[in-house]
Amino acid sequence: MDNARKLKRNNKRKLIPYGRQSIERDDIEAVIKTLKTNWLTQGPKVIEFEEELAKYCGTKYAVAFANGTAALHGAYYAAGLQKDDEFITTPNTFVATVNAGVFLGAIPRFADIELNTGNIDVKLIEKQITKKTKLIVPVDYAGQPCDLDEIIKLAKKNDITIIEDACHALGAKYKNKKIGSVADMTVFSFHPVKSITTGEGGSVVTNNKEFYEKLKKFRTHGITKSDQWTYEMTEPGLNYRLSDIHASLGVSQLKKIDKFIKKRSKIAKQYNQELKGIVGIPKMRSGRTSSWHLYPILLPKKLAKNKEEILNELLENNIGSQVHYMPAYWYDFYKKNYQKGLCPNAEEFYSREISIPIYPNLAWSDQAHVVSTLKKILNNKLK
Ligand SMILES: *Cc1c(COP(=O)(O)O)cnc(C)c1O
Repeated sequence: MDNARKLKRNNKRKLIPYGRQSIERDDIEAVIKTLKTNWLTQGPKVIEFEEELAKYCGTKYAVAFANGTAALHGAYYAAGLQKDDEFITTPNTFVATVNAGVFLGAIPRFADIELNTGNIDVKLIEKQITKKTKLIVPVDYAGQPCDLDEIIKLAKKNDITIIEDACHALGAKYKNKKIGSVADMTVFSFHPVKSITTGEGGSVVTNNKEFYEKLKKFRTHGITKSDQWTYEMTEPGLNYRLSDIHASLGVSQLKKIDKFIKKRSKIAKQYNQELKGIVGIPKMRSGRTSSWHLYPILLPKKLAKNKEEILNELLENNIGSQVHYMPAYWYDFYKKNYQKGLCPNAEEFYSREISIPIYPNLAWSDQAHVVSTLKKILNNKLK
C-alpha cells in the first residue's frame, strides 16, 4: 500500500509532520499589504528584510536569494570557487550543499562526522586539505553549530574561505555569537520547515564588502551599474532574486524567531527526558545553543536493519518522520567517484537516524503521541 492510502485508512488523527511552518494572522496581513503596493519585486521589502536579518545576525551585510540553494551557489561563486578547485564538506547534508559547488566545476571532498552530533569532525578536515582546497563548508546539522573556532584556525592557516551552511541554524549561537557572524559567509534557507519561512527563500550574510558586492552582482545577472536607460554586465550572473512578496513574509517572521526557537527548545528538552537511554539523542557541545531545526534520534544499533519498518509504523500512526541524511556520495551522480566506507560514521548515522516531529506549534498531546508510539514500536522490535 502506498503511503497516501495508508494515511487515508488511518485518518482518525491528523498527520503530525516532521517539521512545518508557523504562519499567523500578522504574517498573512504583511503579505497582503505588499500585494497592494507597486512593488512585487526589487522593492523596499527585500531591503528591509536584508537589513533586519543582518541586524539579527550581527553582521554588516545580508543578501537575499530566491532560495537557500541559490544562496549557496552565490556564496561559492563570491568566494571564487572555480573549475577543478576543491571544497571540503560533510556527507551528512542536503545534496544542495554539494551540488552548488559541483555546478561551478569544483570537486567535493568529504570529511566524516561525529556520531553523536552529526556534525563534521574537525580532526578529519585537515586530512582532506590539498593545494586545491578553496573552501570549507561546515553544516550546522539539526541546528547545532559546528566547532567553528577550530575550523577557522585551520582555514586561516591554509588560506581557505569558510562558508557555513547554516540552513538549519538561523537563531543558533556559538560562544554567545549569533550564527551568521562567525564564518566568512553564512548561508540560510527560509523553506517552510526552517527556523523562519518566506515560502521559498534564502540569504547569505557576511561582514566582507567584497563578498557582498559579488553576491549582489551574481544575484542579478552580473549587472553592475545601471541608470535609467543603460546598464553594464561584467560577468554572467543569474536571476536569483527574492520577491518583495516573499520578503514581506520574512520581515514578519523574523520578528518571531526567538519565540519559535524557544518553543523548539522546550520540545527538544521534553524529548531528551523521554527518550534518553532508549535511543541516541543529540549530544550538545559546550558553548553553543541549537536552533533545533531537527530532532534526530539514532536507533539502537541492532534495530538499524528495522529502520524502514519503524518509519512505516510511525506513519501508520500518523507520525511523519524523515531521514537526514543519506551520505551525499551515495547518490547515483556521486557514487562512481567515491568508495563506500569513505565516511563510516556518516554511513552508520544514516543507517540509524530518524528525525521525529519538531516545530514551534507541535502540540504537547501530539508530542506525547510520538513518544509513546515510538516507545511501543521499539519495545516490540526488541522483544
Ligand atoms: C534546506 C537546505 C538547503 C537548501 O535550501 P533551499 O532553500 O531548500 O534551497 C541547503 N542546505 C541545507 C543543509 C538545508 O537544510
